[in-house]
Amino acid sequence: MSAAYEDRLRAFVGREIHPLRPGQDPVNVPMIRHWVEAMEDDNPIHLDEEAARATGRDGVVAPASMAQAWVMRGYAATTAAEGGGGPADELTDLLAEGGYTSVVATDSEFEFHRELVPGDHVAVREVVESISPEKATALGTGRFITSLRTYHDQDGEVVAVQRWRLLRFRPKAKPQEPEERSEADAAERPEERASRPQPAINRDNAFWFEAAREHRLLIQRCAACRTLRHPPGPCCPECGSFEWDTVRASGDAHVYSFVVNHHPRHPAFDYPLIVAVVELAEGTRLITNLVGVSPEEVEIDMPVVLDWVDADPELSLPVFRPVAQEGH
Ligand SMILES: [Zn+2]
Repeated sequence: MSAAYEDRLRAFVGREIHPLRPGQDPVNVPMIRHWVEAMEDDNPIHLDEEAARATGRDGVVAPASMAQAWVMRGYAATTAAEGGGGPADELTDLLAEGGYTSVVATDSEFEFHRELVPGDHVAVREVVESISPEKATALGTGRFITSLRTYHDQDGEVVAVQRWRLLRFRPKAKPQEPEERSEADAAERPEERASRPQPAINRDNAFWFEAAREHRLLIQRCAACRTLRHPPGPCCPECGSFEWDTVRASGDAHVYSFVVNHHPRHPAFDYPLIVAVVELAEGTRLITNLVGVSPEEVEIDMPVVLDWVDADPELSLPVFRPVAQEGH
């Protein structure tokens, strides 16, 4: 990156990219109702006047996290405004000029200054707070763009502040389209086999992949209510407990659903590739591949049994094959 380019980027720091703009509608009960139903937020202070007053409030209040919803313009107005040449578009164009053509939102930090009540009319403005130096990330090389959105009420008072961070990055080059390879080719030249895409292993799912390396298929179990769950997660969706242990799956399962993948092709796989959801005898479901069976032979509810693929020295994954071919 040239120094001149860095200077042009730096010129955006502190600049307002969206001037103060009011939301389409004031804070209102119907939108609150849609929101709390969608979020399964059953706190009565959002819809029940009496319950809200019992907490010392004057009446119902909007969920804090709706701040952003009150200033959303909807699809039509948003697409009509795109490419209008404002400062936000200028910044996007400048980043694209540097090759940062892809974008992913990375995080959002909210501070809420007061609760919003029906009748409030929220407006938002957005200022660029910082643009990071170029960083190497798993997605590609890019820059973190942090902006500060301030939410104002009808009197100009700040009701919430949001620090909003995006990664604008250069997408990594895609793997070459693989040539047709027969299984015999792959067996003859195994060293040419590309490795499978690596899973994103984190603190919540590491135990599962560690067990898989030893060819043990584990299912996470809530230690409080004993509900089984998959994929692994920190918290029981039934009772909210963070305590858990595991049970080892028997390996018996049936095909719950499947698709046959022809394109796009990844050089680590053979095609057609059967991607299936299997339901384990224990009741949880798992996305996996079926092996030892052609796509024409697969049927919903077909009994299948666990097998393992050692994709590379660090990665083993469960696959399933028809029961009739057990020991095959
Ligand atoms: Zn539980």
